[in-house]
Amino acid sequence: MRFANKVALITGGGSGIGAATARLLAREGAALVVVDIAADHAQAVAAETGGIAVEADVARRADVERAVAVAVERHGRVDILFNNAGIGCIGRTPDLDPEQWERVIAIDLNAVFYACRAAIPHMPRPGGAIVNTASISGLAGDYGFSAYNAAKGAVINYTRTLAIDHAREGIRVNALCPGLIATPLTAGAAALPGLEQAWHAAIPMGRAGTPEEMAEVAAFLASDAASYVTGSVIVADGGQTAW
Ligand code: NAD
Repeated sequence: MRFANKVALITGGGSGIGAATARLLAREGAALVVVDIAADHAQAVAAETGGIAVEADVARRADVERAVAVAVERHGRVDILFNNAGIGCIGRTPDLDPEQWERVIAIDLNAVFYACRAAIPHMPRPGGAIVNTASISGLAGDYGFSAYNAAKGAVINYTRTLAIDHAREGIRVNALCPGLIATPLTAGAAALPGLEQAWHAAIPMGRAGTPEEMAEVAAFLASDAASYVTGSVIVADGGQTAW
């Protein structure tokens, strides 16, 4: 029971990587606060894991602060913060509406800052752990993913800086960079003719990863087993960036 007596707040906990991580952490003893804009999904995962659901749009600072307040009111602290909510966005710069850019930056980047700012004062010292879901898209350029890659690249460097800022207090901060993972986020694109085959050809392991495989990595980073891991950017991509 790696997470006995730990309180974990997961954004985007209603689906995909967040839901798989919620299930894993709950199985190993964590008390969960499942935050998602999709209230029904958050409630389903909370019911399954014995946690609390909070409907929130993480692009809104007040929503994020309310979600953290729920965790603190109920449990008195936040041991683990998994900043995982995210949306994709495809479009080269001239084709991208500024509103699309701003929405991606708000959800994929600003929300991480809002949640860290709200939760850090309520984290144990030592013992607090933050995991930010970035992406291998934040490590390199990628055709047509300008807003998404900008946000994820910023999350990676924010993670490093946050880790340095709070290392002496015993709060660890790490980034998870998934490759192609089979979740609702990628299901639409995967259905386009030939695209899934092209993606798979680009991945040495020849397949997409599963949300459960990402949950294992996130759980390690959140656990005391990673006690000397901070400021790290952990890639889990079936070898895609190893070529
Ligand atoms: P998903 O769509 O299954 O889950 C994302 C969750 O975030 C959903 O439940 C959604 O409702 C929630 N969400 C979206 N906008 C929100 C908002 N404004 N406020 C609150 N919740 C919101 O997708 P996933 O693949 O599990 O993605 C999880 C994270 O992993 C994202 O940050 C994504 O960018 C990242 N990621 C995914 C892949 C992949 O291939 N699936 C690869 C790299 C990184």
